[in-house]
Amino acid sequence: MRLPAIAACCGLAILGPVNGAFARGVGTERLLHADQEPGQWLSTGRNYDEQRFSPLKQVTTENVARLGLAWSAPIDSNRGQEATPLVIDGVLYVSTAWSKVKAFDARSGKLLWSFDPKVPPEWGIRGCCDVVNRGLAAWGNKIFLGTYDGRLIALDARSGKPVWETNTIDRAKAYSITGAPRVVKGKVIIGNAGSEIGVRGYLSAYDAVDGKLAWRFYTVPGDPSKPFETPQLREAAKTWKGDKWWTLGGGGTVWDGIAYDPALNLLYFGTSNGTPWVANVRSPGGGDNLFLNSIIAVNADTGAYAWHYQVTPSETWDFDATNQLTLANLKIGGADRRIVMQASKNGFFYVLDAAKGTLLSADKYTTVNWATHVDLASGRPVEVLEARYDVTGKPFIAQPGAQGAHSWHPMSFSPRTGLIYTPVVENSYAYNKDPKYQMREMGLNGGTGAAPATVYEDLHSTAPRTASGVLLAWDPVGRKEVWRASDLGRVGSGVLSTAGGLVFQGTPNGELRAYRDSDGTLLWSAKTQAGVVAAPISYQVGGVQYVAQLAGYGTRDYYSGNESRLLVYRLDGKASLPPPAPLPPARTLNPVAQFATADDIEQGRELFVAYCSMCHETPGANRGLFPDLRFSPMINTPEAFRTIVLDGALQPRGMVSFKDKLQPSDAEAVRAYLTQRAIDAVAIQKAGGVVR
Ligand code: CA
Repeated sequence: MRLPAIAACCGLAILGPVNGAFARGVGTERLLHADQEPGQWLSTGRNYDEQRFSPLKQVTTENVARLGLAWSAPIDSNRGQEATPLVIDGVLYVSTAWSKVKAFDARSGKLLWSFDPKVPPEWGIRGCCDVVNRGLAAWGNKIFLGTYDGRLIALDARSGKPVWETNTIDRAKAYSITGAPRVVKGKVIIGNAGSEIGVRGYLSAYDAVDGKLAWRFYTVPGDPSKPFETPQLREAAKTWKGDKWWTLGGGGTVWDGIAYDPALNLLYFGTSNGTPWVANVRSPGGGDNLFLNSIIAVNADTGAYAWHYQVTPSETWDFDATNQLTLANLKIGGADRRIVMQASKNGFFYVLDAAKGTLLSADKYTTVNWATHVDLASGRPVEVLEARYDVTGKPFIAQPGAQGAHSWHPMSFSPRTGLIYTPVVENSYAYNKDPKYQMREMGLNGGTGAAPATVYEDLHSTAPRTASGVLLAWDPVGRKEVWRASDLGRVGSGVLSTAGGLVFQGTPNGELRAYRDSDGTLLWSAKTQAGVVAAPISYQVGGVQYVAQLAGYGTRDYYSGNESRLLVYRLDGKASLPPPAPLPPARTLNPVAQFATADDIEQGRELFVAYCSMCHETPGANRGLFPDLRFSPMINTPEAFRTIVLDGALQPRGMVSFKDKLQPSDAEAVRAYLTQRAIDAVAIQKAGGVVR
């Protein structure tokens, strides 16, 4: 395997002309010893262990009350902002919605350059959860960006000009990239997303110098009539049943967490759910469906399989195992262990041996009702029988639900306290196998239908129907909760912990907060004018410690103005935000009388679930806002509705034409369904209720 010249060299290589910013470049030595440069934030997780702990301690529990805004910068989109910035040698690099990148002077906030990869707006429907981007990577004098439409782009760190660009996907399929790349020994590591719709998951490594593919690890077996790429995939294929599991790709995408252990030379990543969600449709006759919902370790140089641990075998609830993976050295059972940790979507906190993948512990960190416990001997969850709604044929209200107890929102491990600080969401979801479901090439391939409206009452379930965010301090050695903050709104943002004894987290209701790391005492907060979901970072320039947070996530309204900003704080910062824009006028429901039969409305519901709900029905809290179509005047005439849905009138804003998928009569059925939803909402308002 060819290595780029700089990989063999030292981290202090001078790469190209020196002009202040990015003077030293970022090489292996700097990334290996990131903690020796406490003022920098060189990679998305700050170090290869992905601990997201800042060693800076100018801002402390004693003085955090003096934290004030140093500077802010507007972000040009009201779509979701999920990125963790990088700070390298005085320059802050951040990615934003639609895979754009901006570089700022980290001290003054002066914009140095910006880059727009011009993602086609119609690519928006090829993902489940908004056109977000969670971060960048750096190597040499380049910044690496994965774009929503599946490209990997290397930018010159000083100018923002593209150096190379490579396509990482089959462009006919519903792939997207939302995750941050990592760079290990001169290779850019990048995965992708799309299991909700239908793709085959893999992780790729590209040469940082020229963008050539170095290796690719497929996470699920492909068409069994063709040769398997690896012996492991031949074995994995034995855990899949039926005759069509590969037709949509199978799933198992690698869309978020990646970590690296230099001593073991292992790269760790998690895989998503399968396509479709429902296990006995995906793989009739059972089987674990390897390597879905797994934590996998591969050789970082070659991509060769090292070990895997399947978090949720034969998964059927959308419990991706893609969450952040964090490495640490901890004393467990009296022995010094090198471990991998994950607060997984399924509600269990996993601790694995980093060298072998052996399960050391798995404990509920939130309310979990689909399994009683994880059997440590077999490593398998012990499920309750009712949880397999696809087998029983009866609805099941799972806690956590498909939103997961914890999703991509970054957690932080503090070596100071030995605690993990993680966002948690208390939530539930009523699963019900959809008997009419058929796999389709575009649109949501969940395979779960709507449960009856009375399902919570029918099942006597007291599970929370509205998502509720918690900040949890978790002891991974003692395997127990230490403290929690629980008034965050629907989902708390990513988390930063610092050597100053602080834990920073934002809220969807428009606040950034700092807590004492030992006991969760709230010590400071600031209004952000926009919801916060991304993770904060801390850096130091010119002897001053800063805390930076990307804000932007629908606290307000799809139709309201742009409040997304990069916010940067320091002690005694005196900057201020402009006054918040006035709220838009309240929208009113104004449906026409129902014009269709009950059968047409039901057909419209099925089509809406299949093609529209991913964007326009967002009860989950981890995505941007889209128009609530009950309030849209466009549902009031067939002509207006068709112009948008079939003719693509709003394509420049990402609402593509569905004329390949829907007949005019289908569009009319969807309109009938939405009209009924609006009529029902009017009735709720007339009865004094609140329409949600
Ligand atoms: Ca998923």
